[in-house]
Amino acid sequence: MSSLPALVPIDDARAELLSRLPRLCSAESIITKDCVGRVLAEDVIAPIDVPPRPNSSMDGYAIAFDDVSGVDAILRVSQRVPAGHAPAPLEKGSAARIFTGGEIPDGADTIVIQEDVRVLENGAIQINEMPSKGEWVRAAGLDISTGERVIPAGTRLTPAAIGVCASLGITHLSVFKRLKVALLSTGDELVEPGLPLAAGKIYNSNRQLIGTLIEQAGFEWVDMPRVDDSADATVSALKQAVANADAIITTGGVSVGEEDHVKSAITSLGTLDLWRIRIRPGKPFAAGEIDGTPIFGLPGNPMSSLVTFALLARPCLMHLQGASYRTPLTLPVRSGITRAALKRDEFMRVMITEGVATAVGSQNSGVLSSALTADGLLHLPAFEAIEKGKTYNFIPFSALIG
Ligand code: AMP
Ligand code: MG
Repeated sequence: MSSLPALVPIDDARAELLSRLPRLCSAESIITKDCVGRVLAEDVIAPIDVPPRPNSSMDGYAIAFDDVSGVDAILRVSQRVPAGHAPAPLEKGSAARIFTGGEIPDGADTIVIQEDVRVLENGAIQINEMPSKGEWVRAAGLDISTGERVIPAGTRLTPAAIGVCASLGITHLSVFKRLKVALLSTGDELVEPGLPLAAGKIYNSNRQLIGTLIEQAGFEWVDMPRVDDSADATVSALKQAVANADAIITTGGVSVGEEDHVKSAITSLGTLDLWRIRIRPGKPFAAGEIDGTPIFGLPGNPMSSLVTFALLARPCLMHLQGASYRTPLTLPVRSGITRAALKRDEFMRVMITEGVATAVGSQNSGVLSSALTADGLLHLPAFEAIEKGKTYNFIPFSALIG
């Protein structure tokens, strides 16, 4: 027992792993709309103001505020400015009929909304209520100013980022090439869905679970065949993965049993650190490299695989991909659970109802189905008795693996 390394808190493990890893990817230019989920390689600097010219945020009448005497003033309507049509300069002593998105004519600076005017029989307007100066005008550059650093390199691009780039007229973005991640699932017991289950076998859930998580994170999933529980098979699968990918994830085979070959195979080909992470589920975790290709070994139990992927492997892969690490969104929620202190931090599958977290289904690390109804993970710190009504950090799945 005393020969085992100490349990490492999850945040320390992540910080240490991230500090050791390089950035792996070169950049490529991609059409903007195809960049969702990709990582920006160069800052986006605004080439124009957004909006490029001042425009109206309401339907109404554009006026020169200082030229209008006030309530009851009567102004003739000198032009009509729908959105998309360039206005003429405002004629002195007049108002311009204008619609939402219509560009403010030179000389005008304020909008009187249409509800605040009376249209007279001759087509002129009488102002019933005066706006304040500048009201209902969206100034040029209100959203973004020319030269502004709008999105820093290292940002993973969201649909909002794509929309912002479109508003700037940007057609292509420089993003990092997708990180190629090889996934090896180890275990003699594993059978692929679609094949019959012989005695002693189970279906391979991690291959598709972690594979689709890899894809959802924006990486390229390099699918590999299942690996037998033997030293030779593990060594040759790792060699093949090194030749075909930028990074490798393995599942299973990282505990201390005699059927666990991943650690010794990595050690024979490269270097390895075995981590015992102070979390539940998910204690064993291996991190190493072979010829500069980083490897992350996840435990075999599917829920442990999911949690260690989300909390450790995914941030490391994001770093390799060139993304800046951001602590996932956590929300304070009240616990609906009471339990005695544990020696490990628990990431409990919970549902949130009216701000209170309750455990869903079994918390066994071999049980994946409870992740179906869970909203995310409740972080219950080690060495603390957990009390109902007390506040703990909740991490939604969308923030962890979205
Ligand atoms: P291991 O980490 O290899 O000792 O595996 C721990 C537990 O997880 C065992 O019960 C395995 O059968 C199970 N397991 C390992 N890999 C997978 C997988 N890919 N799909 C489903 N269960 C797995
Ligand atoms: Mg195994």
